[in-house]
Amino acid sequence: MMAQYLALKAEADDCLLFYRMGDFFEMFFDDAKIAAACLDIALTARGEHEGSAIPMCGVPVHAAEGYLARLIKAGHRVAIAEQTESPAAAKARMGSKALVSRAIIRVVTAGTLTEEALLDARTANWCVAIGEVGGGIAIAAADVSTGRFELIETSEAGLTAELARLAPAETIASEATAFGETATTLRPRTEFDSAAGEARLKALFGVATLDGFGQFSRAGLAAAGGLVAYLDHTARGALPFLRPPRLLQTAQHMAIDAATRDSLELTCTATGQRKGSLLDAIDRTVTGAGARALAADVGAPLLDRARIEARLDLVQLLAEDSGLRESLRATLRSLPDIGRAIGRLAAGRGSPRDLGQLRDGLDGAWKLGEKLDHVAEPPALLAELAPQLRGHGGLIDLLTRALVPSPPIDASDGGYIAEGYDAALDDLRDAGAGGRRAIAALEAEFRAQTGVSALKIRHNGVLGYHIEVPARFADGLMKAESGFTHRQTLAGVVRFNAPALHEVALKVTQAGAHALAAEAAHLEDLTAAALDRRESVAATADALARLDVAAGLAERAVEGGWTRPALVEHSCFEIEGGRHPVVENALAARGERFVANDCMLSEDSRLWLVTGPNMGGKSTFLRQNALIAVLAQAGSYVPATSATLGLVDRLFSRVGASDNLARGRSTFMVEMVETAAILAQATPKSFVILDEVGRGTSTYDGLAIAWAVVEAIHEDNRCRCLFATHYHELTRLAERCDALTLHHVRAREWKGELVLLHEVSEGPADRSYGLAVARLAGLPPITIARAKAVLAKLEAGRAKTGGLAAGLDDLPLFAAMAAEVEEEVDSLRAEVEKIDVDALTPREALEILYRLKALA
Ligand code: ADP
Repeated sequence: MMAQYLALKAEADDCLLFYRMGDFFEMFFDDAKIAAACLDIALTARGEHEGSAIPMCGVPVHAAEGYLARLIKAGHRVAIAEQTESPAAAKARMGSKALVSRAIIRVVTAGTLTEEALLDARTANWCVAIGEVGGGIAIAAADVSTGRFELIETSEAGLTAELARLAPAETIASEATAFGETATTLRPRTEFDSAAGEARLKALFGVATLDGFGQFSRAGLAAAGGLVAYLDHTARGALPFLRPPRLLQTAQHMAIDAATRDSLELTCTATGQRKGSLLDAIDRTVTGAGARALAADVGAPLLDRARIEARLDLVQLLAEDSGLRESLRATLRSLPDIGRAIGRLAAGRGSPRDLGQLRDGLDGAWKLGEKLDHVAEPPALLAELAPQLRGHGGLIDLLTRALVPSPPIDASDGGYIAEGYDAALDDLRDAGAGGRRAIAALEAEFRAQTGVSALKIRHNGVLGYHIEVPARFADGLMKAESGFTHRQTLAGVVRFNAPALHEVALKVTQAGAHALAAEAAHLEDLTAAALDRRESVAATADALARLDVAAGLAERAVEGGWTRPALVEHSCFEIEGGRHPVVENALAARGERFVANDCMLSEDSRLWLVTGPNMGGKSTFLRQNALIAVLAQAGSYVPATSATLGLVDRLFSRVGASDNLARGRSTFMVEMVETAAILAQATPKSFVILDEVGRGTSTYDGLAIAWAVVEAIHEDNRCRCLFATHYHELTRLAERCDALTLHHVRAREWKGELVLLHEVSEGPADRSYGLAVARLAGLPPITIARAKAVLAKLEAGRAKTGGLAAGLDDLPLFAAMAAEVEEEVDSLRAEVEKIDVDALTPREALEILYRLKALA
């Protein structure tokens, strides 16, 4: 057995091996130590291997799912080795010292789960593969729990942003690429071959050409091929359900890089929780599929105005018609998750209950579709979705006739096929029931015959049906003429068999076995019938999810008094009475009121410099506007009294280093790398918020960097930008940057106390209130007094020298400087062009290098 175990273990050496022995999955050696520690179960020992005891632990098969979930959560992979023949078959094959054959039937990993108990209903479970061919990069992403399959053409620069959007449970890459740091799982290079990938996709979808799905790049084929090969590997040949891939170009979505996602806390907070995120604050969906679709929408706001308007039209209809919204939500709430049910059935892990869910879900969808047909003048999106809810009449009818009202998860006891569906099955069940009645009658007969009224006929797995009497009455029955045969003597009872009982029992058991087999055959047929329609079932599931998203957004909009954003072509951003949904919630929980603020960016005022005291509300103001852009383009109403905005192609959010220090990763270096990315990528259609950039270094450096960044954004990127800073000196930029305007968050000192009004007003802040904030925060009075004295000295010094920003006014304009730098670069280029490399001796080459160096 150990030899068999070790052979299986060698096949899956990166996994913990669950080795099936009877009713247990056992683990041995290091696997046992790891699992015992992780699961908090007893570590024992069994036999010996090379002279020392073999550590062992085990989990019961019937409870394996829960243990699996914990191991997967803790980052392990688990290979399941099942018995592939019965002990009887093994004996017939090998004699009495038989070893049943076993094989790995599946590798369970975080990205390949389908089980309800192992998945979060409201989160998609992406398994992604990164493909690279000749510099092109693509991501293939599959959620095998629903069959969703996406192919994203991206670039090296866009890769992390796309991965951040998907937040995959598992990331696969070829061991030959440089993505090892990003990937959780490395696979052989051959599995990422683009030609093999193409062949694999064609075989999977049974097509001669992939053109029907769109134009695939080589990298796309490599990624998709690698992913399919991996899923095939983990499922050991039983490939899960995949729908045809949807091709996505990164350009179809608002570009939001990983740092921006983190900083805006779109779908989870800095600590990785959903609570406190934008998603959590707006999610009023009532189904798991709806929640998953909303998370995808918020993570990937659209760029196509027509599609956004289509979503908004539906939200508007549902926001205005509360009766329709409420009945829609009530229906959706009652529907099971048919997308995941069909996913489990397709993966070969379906149960009678999944079929029951399918029946109920499709039936509910049908009824909903009929109701929605009555909506007068439906918006285009509704007219498109409603028909997708119907069209499974045959399948619903079949499942309704075939299944009992609530079929069990476990098929092994039968009882899920309805009466009247199959006459032969009904007969077998009648025979079984008749037999059980006959057994009851026998019990009475035996009691009368023996005079033992405590005699009972019982059933168990080992003896089958048998007669049981208390030990003190057993003597008489032991005799041969009693007609009973002794089977077993336990502490208080003795068990017997009798020919009459044996005969009836045999009938009951046989009828039962035949009935079970008949049910299993039906289960297989019904599953096949459902899988025949899996594409359109998945489409229905999508349509339900879209309706749930729209109804949820409508509900949220009504609840919060939100408004429909107007999307325009020119690059403005006019928000009246804007609010931050997460901060507003937090304040409301404390009984405080959120102060709404306007943000009016336009062509001639596209960069707002926001100053004011710490805690004054600058960050909140910046973020709320970025969130409004995300919500609007995701097709949601927005928390404002009115909103008009030009589409945002890229969104950036950066927070000065010290704000992030608590997270233990942001340093000044990271801050600068991220700022560099903005300067390189922001276009005139982009929206940028910069919060205290430059703060992570010394005052002079920081001010200088902030100054240069503001200038560059104003002159070069020309995007819409909100820039919060405590560098007062920056306000001088208003004089030289004509599209830059000054704003501040208001504060007042009242009776010696600082009052933060959280109101954004025009003009620069009059002073910084730093000491007042320090007092508010509880710094001891003596320290405050000391700081005041130091401040007075500093200010006196500043008055004398002209201050920190003295001399800045004499700086040449940004454009002039840029021209100067260009010129320097040009003279270098001219020198380089003069060189005739082929004609140079090594010595001359060295001299030229010195000359170039001097020029730079
Ligand atoms: P700053 O960036 O200026 O230091 P924040 O934006 O972090 O300030 O805001 C500090 C706190 O002030 C927030 O946590 C919130 O409690 C409160 N606050 C901010 N904006 C508002 C507002 N518009 N209305 C009410 N309270 C606000």
